[in-house]
Amino acid sequence: MSEHQGIFTSQAVQDYLTAPATVTSEQLSDRLWTASDGKYRTIFIEADNSVVAFDTFGTPARARAYAAEIARVIPGKQVSTIIYSHDHLDHAGFAADFAPDANIVADEMTAKVVAMRGADGQLPVSEALSGTEHRVNYDGAEFVLLNRGPVLGTGHLSAWFEAEKVFFSSDTILANARYGLMPDYHIANFVKIMRSFLDLDFERFVPGRYELTDRAGFETGCDYIEAMQIACQSAFLNFVPIWIHDVMAGFVQNELGKRFGHLDGFKEHSGQTAIRVVHHYLMGGWGLEDTPEAGILLGD
Ligand SMILES: [Zn+2]
Repeated sequence: MSEHQGIFTSQAVQDYLTAPATVTSEQLSDRLWTASDGKYRTIFIEADNSVVAFDTFGTPARARAYAAEIARVIPGKQVSTIIYSHDHLDHAGFAADFAPDANIVADEMTAKVVAMRGADGQLPVSEALSGTEHRVNYDGAEFVLLNRGPVLGTGHLSAWFEAEKVFFSSDTILANARYGLMPDYHIANFVKIMRSFLDLDFERFVPGRYELTDRAGFETGCDYIEAMQIACQSAFLNFVPIWIHDVMAGFVQNELGKRFGHLDGFKEHSGQTAIRVVHHYLMGGWGLEDTPEAGILLGD
């Protein structure tokens, strides 16, 4: 049998798509769980007669393992709604293998990308949301979805669970330095928008990768990216050859090591982050998303 294969064009990836996967979960409240495949992380909610789940994980096998874990901890209830936190296939690419009959909710920008990309296994969005804030209720599960502007990917939605004081924002802030590549973080607005979420009352933060953290961990994550942006601008002043990985790594580790050297992954990933961020300043950013009035992307 051939698996859904996203945008891969080589049949050779079949072994990757079917590679055995395990998804485990941890209960955060009566109705709320976080699930992880060991690296990626998401969240799901028990509703009155069904389950509302964010994202799908990044291969058909992982999507099936996610469905199996939900069925294990909430037996007898089907996934009725999937919310795509953003368009990326490694988080939200395999609804066809996870819950093919579910209602699919996403921001309108995500809906457009998903429709036009047509990745194999990523089901189209059935309910597109416009605007910055939505108090939603799917089958009795109430929470708030937020898009305050471009932070990562296209049409990114974060979620606030007020009663639990839990905030979920996939692929944005981490409490460590492990996500170094940052290909489409929208650097011009990223920290400003992410820090704005501190106006919400939350104590626990669920990131899109790695371990859970708290409000302080979230703030450290914001501080790290902001300090990286400043260090990368200093690299110009110091005539650092900004295209050479090892030189940039040495430069930013010297600048940031005292304050952030304790972060998991700092030594291995900060050079790669620096290469990404320094080129933002060299080139001016990533199109409209990296302009000061990026709210232009919120409307139709
Ligand atoms: Zn992503």
